[in-house]
Amino acid sequence: MPQLPDVPLNGLYGASIMDHYRNPRHRPPLASSDIECEEFNPFCGDRIILQIKLDDAGRIAQISSRSEGCSIIQATASMMGEVLLGKSLEQAAALDHAFRALMRGESLDQESAPELGDLVAMQVVREYPVRIKCALLPWLALEEGMESHESGQAGRD
Ligand code: ZN
Repeated sequence: MPQLPDVPLNGLYGASIMDHYRNPRHRPPLASSDIECEEFNPFCGDRIILQIKLDDAGRIAQISSRSEGCSIIQATASMMGEVLLGKSLEQAAALDHAFRALMRGESLDQESAPELGDLVAMQVVREYPVRIKCALLPWLALEEGMESHESGQAGRD
């Protein structure tokens, strides 16, 4: 496996990343799910299995965000689980866009910045392009999971 640059995890943002890495939220698997997707990044051995259970109103009622690999993906998966809970899939897609904008170094509008919660800490990864992939892998799982969920819905009509 190639050696990837280490992101320095000091300061307030670093502490937040280490906290989620050491105490990951939303790890237990769900018995049943409406959305499920697995992604793998062979460059650093990162893996994510995302499961989402929707309620009758189409909101994210339960989420399982299981990851293995580096500290960046494990912390992102945990933070993502926290911000997505209770959201509609439309809101989840908006958060995905906001997070990608943050990782591109764009300034966030006043609405989406607070919505990202602990995820704002991930901006420390911006200087390390190969590690940005680690932070985006859980979101890729979300996008692909939502996409196949949508096409499944369309097929049922
Ligand atoms: Zn990684």
